[in-house]
Order: sequence, then structure tokens, then C-alpha cells
Amino acid sequence: MHAARDLCAFVDASPSPWHAAYTLADRLVSKGFRRLELDAPEWDLAPGSWYVHRNGTVIAWRLREGPLRRFAVVGAHTDSPNLRLKPRAAYTSEGCLQLGVEVYGGALWNSWLDRDLGLAGVVFTEDGKAHPLRVHRPIARVSQLAIHLDRSVNTDGLKLNPQLHLSPTWGLARPGIDAAEALFGLLADAAGVDPKAVRSHDVSLYDLTPSTLGGMDESLIFAPRLDNLACSHAGLVAMEAAEVGRDDTCAVLACFDHEEVGSSSLDGADGTLLSVVLERIAAERGLTRSAWHASVASSLMLSADMAHAAHPNYGDKHEPRHKPLLGGGPVLKTNYNLRYGSSASTAAALRVLAASVGVTLQDFVTRTDIGCGSTIGPICASRLGMPVVDLGDPMLSMHSARECAAADDHPRLIALLNAHLTV
Ligand code: ZN
Repeated sequence: MHAARDLCAFVDASPSPWHAAYTLADRLVSKGFRRLELDAPEWDLAPGSWYVHRNGTVIAWRLREGPLRRFAVVGAHTDSPNLRLKPRAAYTSEGCLQLGVEVYGGALWNSWLDRDLGLAGVVFTEDGKAHPLRVHRPIARVSQLAIHLDRSVNTDGLKLNPQLHLSPTWGLARPGIDAAEALFGLLADAAGVDPKAVRSHDVSLYDLTPSTLGGMDESLIFAPRLDNLACSHAGLVAMEAAEVGRDDTCAVLACFDHEEVGSSSLDGADGTLLSVVLERIAAERGLTRSAWHASVASSLMLSADMAHAAHPNYGDKHEPRHKPLLGGGPVLKTNYNLRYGSSASTAAALRVLAASVGVTLQDFVTRTDIGCGSTIGPICASRLGMPVVDLGDPMLSMHSARECAAADDHPRLIALLNAHLTV
């Protein structure tokens, strides 16, 4: 199967970061990875394939036979900007049942208008257990105001207030319907639990339109959440294929939640999770404290997150000599103000790696008069003390509910990540 078709299936199976983590874990298990629990006092690590999974984050690794000297890490993130149900989401307005939502991350708000939306996430029951849920039918929509009531919208621009204008409608307010009870009943039913046992939820809205290959020759990918499920998927496929590699190197895939909101959380890249996992691996393999620090200094992380392709309608938004093209291959991202983790040293290492597997790299820097986005790259470099380089495939419409990338870039990114995990 073309890697891009597999990506479409991966994205459609992962409508929330919770689901992305379950999808990753299921795939890893099917490839023989064994789960370890973070609260287990000892891991008893033999050479082999292992993973930990907490909430929306999964870290997997392959431990090889030789004495451990370094880590080859691929980092990505499972979350994407979206609309999340507030704790008391259900209310009525103008005869309609409404859902109060919080905007998660830097979403393009307009992209959520007039779409058929489903619900996906998790409920926690009184016994402390998580129950994933998915309502995979058109349960809600955020209706745009008719142009007759907003005549200047096309010329003056659409102005949305997220508190007032992004609440989806999910039915009609009829006498005798208790909106809150109906919503909790729906969520509990979808999770397969007793509504009375539900104590909390984390539920996102998602666009029901399936991911697909598009364009005249299916050279494009039309899908939601490509930022950054495309890189999570590329890392997963690269890891699945990384059965052999340098004996002294532990190959690691870390897919974090919460990148879109700054990564400072229990399961985010700015938490201790990855450093704790790596340190435990080192301890289990008998490394001294000093040897552990040496192993981190000898390691390299490829921070994989999607990049901005030059937009055919807005070519002047890019730096003229650093314009990644859709279909032109993976992008090396540089920002001397450290919005990315790349340094001259790690950029050189990535160029050598790419050349070794025949992958052409494109270069991205943002225009000097436009601010630069960021990634988990600089966070991981400073938190782990590990050299990092930032890269990703080019895409359009980043942070829209529906994004676009090029099908042929995806296998190139997989080849590059696989080379890192195996060489
Ligand atoms: Zn991203």
C-alpha cells in the first residue's frame, strides 16, 4: 500500500489525541512491542521492543543486544487544534441545543464552520478508568451567519468571537429534554458505560469527511490533522521497519500530546516523561550516572513536525530563497532565534543522513518580517540536553480543520526517519 493511503487510514482512526495514542499503541502491539507501566518499580528490560502509553502520549523503543551508548530519537505530536467540549457543555439557545466549546490550540476558526462534525475523546468513570468514545455520525455543526445578515463579510473579512460564534448546534430544544442529561447519556452510551458512573470527559469535535488522496493523479492528500499525525505516522512506520540497527543504539519514537498548547504538561514534551523513560532504560541496562549523561550527549533527536509549503495563491508569504514546495521532499527547518531546535551541527548531520538514503531536503526559514512558529524541538533540546534537528513534510492550510500535503513526500520522510533509527 502507498504510505499515503496508510496515513489516511491512520488519520481517520485518530480523531482525537486520545485515539491517536490508542492507534499508535495498537499498531505497536501488532508488531510485537510490549507495554510497560510507568508505575511499575522495575522494568526488567531485555533487548526487544517496548512502549509506554499515558493519556495522549506514546513512547516506544527498540533495545538492541550491545552495550547501550546512545539514543536515536524521533519526536512528533499527537494533538491538533480543534474544538473541545467544556465541562458543562450542554445549553439551549433560540430553540436549539448547543454545545459550549473551548478552542484548543491555534485553530483556524473559520475552517470549523458548516461542517458535519462528530465527537471523539474519553470519559473517566468513578473507578478511575478511561473509556474512549467516538460518535461517528453528523451529530453537530457550527452554522455560519447568512450573508444577508452580514453583507460585508466577503469584503471586510469574517470576524468570529470564539465564545459567541463557535458553539455547535446538536439538535432542537424540545419540551422535556434535559440537554445536560442528553449529552452525558450520549457520551456514556458511546463509551459503553453507565452514565451515572461518568465523572469527567475530554471530548473533541472532528470533521467527518474521510481523508483521501486527491488531485488529478492522486498526488495530494486531503485530510484533517496532518499537523502532526503525518509525522506521528511516519515515525511509527519508520519504527515498525527498524528491526535491525546499530547494536549500541536504542531507537526511540516519542509522540507527545499538548504540543499545540505549549507542551508544559504531564504528558507533553516539556514534562519529564521522555527523560524519565530514557533514564530508566539506561538504568535497566546498567549505565552509571556518568555513562547515562554521556549517552544523551552522544544522541540525536529528529523533531518531526509539518512545515509550511509555499502557497500557490500567496507566494509572497515565504522567504524568496527558502520556499519548500509540495512534493519537493522533507524540509529542514532553521530559526536562529531558536523557535526550532536545529543548529548548524545538527543540520549538517541531517543533510548527511538524507544524502545517505537519497532523500532531497528542502530548506525553510520564515520571512524576517513574519514571526516563526515553534515545535517540541527546542523544548526537548533544553530539557533532555540532547542535540535536536527540526524537520517535517511541506503542507498547506496548517491548523485548518482540513489540510493538504503531497503524497510522495510521505514515503521520503519515512525513509529519512527510518535511516535515523537504524544507522
Ligand atoms: Zn505541529
